[in-house]
Amino acid sequence: MQITGVNQYHLDGQVDGAFYPTWIPGYPQGTHELELFEIETDEGITGYAASPSFAGGLDYESPLSLFLLGEDPHDVEGILRKLETVDLVGPRPWHVEMALWDIIGKDAGKPVHELLGGSRKAVPCYASTGEYQLADERIPYIEERVDDGFEAVKLRVTEVEHIEMVREVREAFPDLTLMVDANKGWAVRVMEEETTWSFADAVEFCRGLEEVGNVAWLEEPLPRHDYDGYARLRRKVDVPIAGGEFNNGAYHYREFAERDALDVYQPDAALATGIKQATEVAALARQHGAEFVPHTWTNALGFAANLHVVTAVDSPWVEYPMEPPWTPEVWGFMLEDPDVFAHEDGRLAAPEQPGLGVEIDESVFEDAE
Ligand SMILES: [Mg+2]
Repeated sequence: MQITGVNQYHLDGQVDGAFYPTWIPGYPQGTHELELFEIETDEGITGYAASPSFAGGLDYESPLSLFLLGEDPHDVEGILRKLETVDLVGPRPWHVEMALWDIIGKDAGKPVHELLGGSRKAVPCYASTGEYQLADERIPYIEERVDDGFEAVKLRVTEVEHIEMVREVREAFPDLTLMVDANKGWAVRVMEEETTWSFADAVEFCRGLEEVGNVAWLEEPLPRHDYDGYARLRRKVDVPIAGGEFNNGAYHYREFAERDALDVYQPDAALATGIKQATEVAALARQHGAEFVPHTWTNALGFAANLHVVTAVDSPWVEYPMEPPWTPEVWGFMLEDPDVFAHEDGRLAAPEQPGLGVEIDESVFEDAE
């Protein structure tokens, strides 16, 4: 099999209103931009991948075509070496690699999780918020999620003082599993600079979480490459420490592992490792007695890639982005079947269909730029 075509489409999905993601400080996000990559083969099988996009996106079709045309999509390792070159001038390999697995799975007639040696099962979802909100606003949201069957919710904070909101949420929901994301690993600095935490700030916040109790993890309290800081923090506090959603390639996770710096490894298959190296990081996490629960907050293709990995490596949770108006219908606007990622009682099984198991809605190609 040979790759015969690489096409890129800039998609711009509408959001009904706007929300204020903590990772784009001060910015009201009212659209869902992404770059859709379509990889065609001489056997008529087409694979899809998607990356997040911003402000109209960047065009990678020419460099990707130069490196991918004529390659056999089954040669994931060989293509990743080529994409490492592209990474020097363009997109990360992980933005494209899932399309290879989509093709390989369609060729084999098997879903990606089965190619990776996993068996299909319903995975518990945790509801992942995107905004910092006061407890008064957040509590009704959590009541809805609990009614829907969710057993865990991830809160967003930006300031050390936001521990008060976490305390109030805990008082309202004494038994709910909580995750807390400080989003100090990276930021999109288009409107405002993000609030950063000193090491002492991170320790202070962790002490607060220890009093709150039943906190599954504190996520990204420090910059994503501060491996020593993560290790030092983890030794000092009792709350589990999570991170690594947007590091780059399996080597970065060795930096965490060598220092025993994380309790929860979170590489996003669409942003940080691709599917193949995600399974390698999952194995690394297991060898270090840590959990593996990847970040999934990009779009439905990225979510699919991560859900297949989660299924294959038996992760305890899958992150389920839900911050109205950012709903599964919005992050999955490019899908033919908008219900493919509708959870049931807070649980979700990976698609059974071959490859990533999702069909792209033809109309998005007509609307693409
Ligand atoms: Mg995060």
